[in-house]
Amino acid sequence: MSSGEYDIMIIGAGPAGLSAALNARVRNKSVAVVSRKLTSPSLEKAPWVDNYLGVERISGSELSARFVDHARTAGAELIESDITGIFNLGDSFAALGSDRDFSAKAVVIATGSVQEASIPGESRLLGMGVSYCATCDGPLYKGKRVVVLGYTAHAIEEANFLAQICSEVTYVAARSAKAEDAPEIAEGIRVLKKRVLGIRGENKVEEVELDGETIPADGVFVVRDSIPVERLLEGIDVADGAIVVDREMTTNVAGVFAAGDCTGRPYQVAKAVGEGLVAGLSAARYVDRMAAKK
Ligand SMILES: Cc1cc2nc3c(=O)[nH]c(=O)nc-3n(C[C@H](O)[C@H](O)[C@H](O)COP(=O)(O)OP(=O)(O)OC[C@H]3O[C@@H](n4cnc5c(N)ncnc54)[C@H](O)[C@@H]3O)c2cc1C
Repeated sequence: MSSGEYDIMIIGAGPAGLSAALNARVRNKSVAVVSRKLTSPSLEKAPWVDNYLGVERISGSELSARFVDHARTAGAELIESDITGIFNLGDSFAALGSDRDFSAKAVVIATGSVQEASIPGESRLLGMGVSYCATCDGPLYKGKRVVVLGYTAHAIEEANFLAQICSEVTYVAARSAKAEDAPEIAEGIRVLKKRVLGIRGENKVEEVELDGETIPADGVFVVRDSIPVERLLEGIDVADGAIVVDREMTTNVAGVFAAGDCTGRPYQVAKAVGEGLVAGLSAARYVDRMAAKK
């Protein structure tokens, strides 16, 4: 059984993940930060941050860029990839990325908060037509009808990819997610801007119900900034949408730690950075303990 290509794999390149990376590097661990974006989309939205100690006023995007530079300079490997699943292999963990897989001895989850509530039918039909990743699952829907529920500008890329393989693609702009760098939507994709009421079907997806319209579908791709964490790692304890952690940022799964917005309020940079530090050090200690046992 593989013992992991990295000591520590950190999911998310926001303040929490990068702080975990920096501090795990201080403990001389090999660290991969795997993130959908090599920045914090959340922090980038802050025109100004005025409450980060020692930095009187800085734009969110500048602060995010400094965090990235600092973690990289410390020797963390930063990799752009969307993680859709983490699997416990016993003495290591594997993570399913958009274009490759990763493995490590310990994991820090730092994926930020998921603001959107789950769509009725989403959990029940997960793996039965509901997917979070077009690159991973798109080929299963070759020649079929799919609906993309876009909660983020990145969803347009997913829809454009699906349009190359599926017979029919409907893109629902579930939330206004137009970003300046969003790609143009490909020709042939039907675009709707309607409220999503539910995903229906007995043992597989059959249709998507929108406000005033029902769309027959074989597959539904729900594209958000972040996947609800309980879908990322089976068995992890979550309460009120936040990962349950102790003061060492340990989760109920041995070897998995969590930090930042994903562990709950307050949603603030200083809290994310502090928790990231604790999670990075705890993960490093865990790796040392495992090595000592061998
Ligand atoms: C408009 C706005 C203004 C704000 N202003 C302030 C302020 O003034 N002061 C303050 O302290 N805080 C502010 N915040 C909050 C602050 O941005 C967050 O608390 C902070 O960014 C949380 O850090 P995090 O690392 O936990 O998560 P995030 O910064 O959200 O980072 C999460 C990371 O995980 C990645 N990710 C998510 N899911 C996956 C996946 N499945 N696979 C791979 N990668 C994934 C994302 O791409 C991202 O890189 C503001 C937020 C907003 C939206």
